[in-house]
Amino acid sequence: MLLIRCPYCEEERPELEFRHAGQAHIARPTNIAEISDGEFEEYFFIRQNPKGLYFERWRHIHGCARFFNAARDTVSDKFVKTYKAGEPKPSISLPKAKPAKRVAAKPASAKAAPKAAAAKATGKSTRKAPAKRASVSGTKTRRGAKKS
Ligand SMILES: [Zn+2]
Repeated sequence: MLLIRCPYCEEERPELEFRHAGQAHIARPTNIAEISDGEFEEYFFIRQNPKGLYFERWRHIHGCARFFNAARDTVSDKFVKTYKAGEPKPSISLPKAKPAKRVAAKPASAKAAPKAAAAKATGKSTRKAPAKRASVSGTKTRRGAKKS
């Protein structure tokens, strides 16, 4: 079970006690009646969805019921840090993930190699004929019939 540290209760509790509450550090515009529709859309709807470090609000709904902020790695789903609401956004940098190792392409298997070599020698393709596929579709069959 995922454990989340509540910064108010100062202990790790099961995730079932918490509720996610969206992206953190989104300030409500002070002049909200004067902003444009585009600016309102940006404030109200547009949220980040990063791969990696993400700052979000959580609520200890089945505990102290208070809101707090968390820095979470969306790749590993690990909470890097939790801190009280109103505290400044901490400067955190995650260690860069190592790129996945590329596996070198395997040479053609022993089974497929002779078939391909034979096709190369005779000039014939090892692929299935497209006519066989065309017979499945009614329109293609009719078109094919007109040609022949
Ligand atoms: Zn709490």
